[in-house]
Amino acid sequence: MNPLEIKTYGSKVLRVKAKTMVDFGGDLDTFLDRMKSIMIAEQGVGLAAPQVGVSKRIILFYVDPKESSRVDAMINPEIIASSDEFEKSEEGCLSVPYIRGEVRRLLEVEVKYQSVDGTEHTDRFHDLTARIIQHEIDHTNGILFVDHLSFAKRAMIRGKLRKLARENGKKG
Ligand SMILES: [Zn+2]
Repeated sequence: MNPLEIKTYGSKVLRVKAKTMVDFGGDLDTFLDRMKSIMIAEQGVGLAAPQVGVSKRIILFYVDPKESSRVDAMINPEIIASSDEFEKSEEGCLSVPYIRGEVRRLLEVEVKYQSVDGTEHTDRFHDLTARIIQHEIDHTNGILFVDHLSFAKRAMIRGKLRKLARENGKKG
């Protein structure tokens, strides 16, 4: 089986709203294993299916990456409530190589999602885990972390983003 490939800035799949998962059978487990392999190989702390070219609402993330090595998956995740506190911190993304920047995120979120077997859950997450989940849910909505950067920072990275997009254009 070929390893999955990370889609980078300029790929159309990163900019569309991914489809809700309805069918949980088939090769979902295998797909999640493959996502996990590439996330670990590329040293990411989270990964969303559109980043590997699959436009579905599936995300993978380290639960509290500073404390543990547990990786969890969420299907059809949706933020249904949050604290009104925010925090600014630096982010990067496997799909936007060479660029990092400060992003303001909710400090605490309540997320409704389904697990791999289709069971519904609601859980609260805070700090870094909440940040990763917000970043990955953004991916399922066609949003990238660079969209959240300040106007000044976006002006600074415009050239780099254009270059990435051009490289993807060449790949077709
Ligand atoms: Zn990302």
